[in-house]
Amino acid sequence: MAGIYIHIPFCKQACHYCDFHFSTSLKKKDELVNALTKELELRKDEFNNTTVETIYFGGGTPSLLSNDELQFIIDAVYKNYKVSENPEITLEANPDDLSKDRIIELSKSRINRLSIGIQSFFEDDLKLMNRAHNANEAKTCLEEATKHFDNISLDLIYGIPGASNEQWLKNIEMALSFNVPHISSYALTVEPKTALASFIKKGVIEDVDDEQAHEQFHVLKEKLEASGFVHYELSNFGKDGYFSKNNSAYWQGKSYLGIGPSAHSFNGKQRGWNVKNNSKYINATAQNELPIEIETLTQTDQYNEYIMTGLRTIWGVSIKKVEEDFGIVFKDYLIEQSEVFINQQLLYIDKAHLRVTKKGQFLCDGIASELFKIN
Ligand code: SF4
Repeated sequence: MAGIYIHIPFCKQACHYCDFHFSTSLKKKDELVNALTKELELRKDEFNNTTVETIYFGGGTPSLLSNDELQFIIDAVYKNYKVSENPEITLEANPDDLSKDRIIELSKSRINRLSIGIQSFFEDDLKLMNRAHNANEAKTCLEEATKHFDNISLDLIYGIPGASNEQWLKNIEMALSFNVPHISSYALTVEPKTALASFIKKGVIEDVDDEQAHEQFHVLKEKLEASGFVHYELSNFGKDGYFSKNNSAYWQGKSYLGIGPSAHSFNGKQRGWNVKNNSKYINATAQNELPIEIETLTQTDQYNEYIMTGLRTIWGVSIKKVEEDFGIVFKDYLIEQSEVFINQQLLYIDKAHLRVTKKGQFLCDGIASELFKIN
């Protein structure tokens, strides 16, 4: 099984916290769409006939593309790859692009999953983050989307400066009221060189409070689990049958092709990065060149990758798999390094799988890095 990720590098405006690759000018949109289909064609042999089970439009803001443009890209996937009978096809979409008519139009296309960037239902949070939508649009688009799509995920951000725990709880309750089967939620992180970092430095916005983010993460987990969601990955909660197939494939180390500027690819042994520049990307594909840099992963890189992704999921890290794939030295190293965290009740071993405890969950990435091997 394999997945195709397609990066749409355009946004209406820059959210203050975002460090993804996007342009707020749509001037090159047509050329870019053609370039995406060209890259799909150029890379058609990379999957060796492996069946594509998931197609994911991420970004950027993929909902800025028209339905015809999205269909044009999907057609290029079908033309060049073997696609399973019922693939999961996800569109990341922002509420301000999801009018009633647009949702109905999308529901008639091959897209069968929407991932909606709500982030908050509160006006002051949305303004602080410079989101393009308002609180009312967040609600009305969900009301409409749930009438036409069964498989919907929404994104929420916690740890927003100035947002109290009560406000956060109301956000979660509002999200639950729409009865969506999947919720992704991330802590607001201050990435260098973003507007948010600069506002915090100048004292215009107060800094994020890790302690509060930690508390809000636990409120989220408790509320969603009590409402029948499975916390299957650190930032992801899904009802049975609605875990993101696309993301689960990443976390389980399956192959994926990343199409578009800045997209990443992975084939189990190598990782690729496409150029992070729309013009360079368009020019390269026009000359039948792949705008990609490839790194071959060492055994240590692959082990580190597995530890990082495995620990974040409910499936955990299989000790047997570590021994089989990387050898006894890696397995012994893992057991030895884990001991201190097991003693602190941050990790535990269950049925030969290493997992994070409830207490360890929020610290998961830091713990994983302590289990890494150095090349
Ligand atoms: S819409 Fe998404 S990709 Fe675009 S700036 Fe905002 S967070 Fe970043």
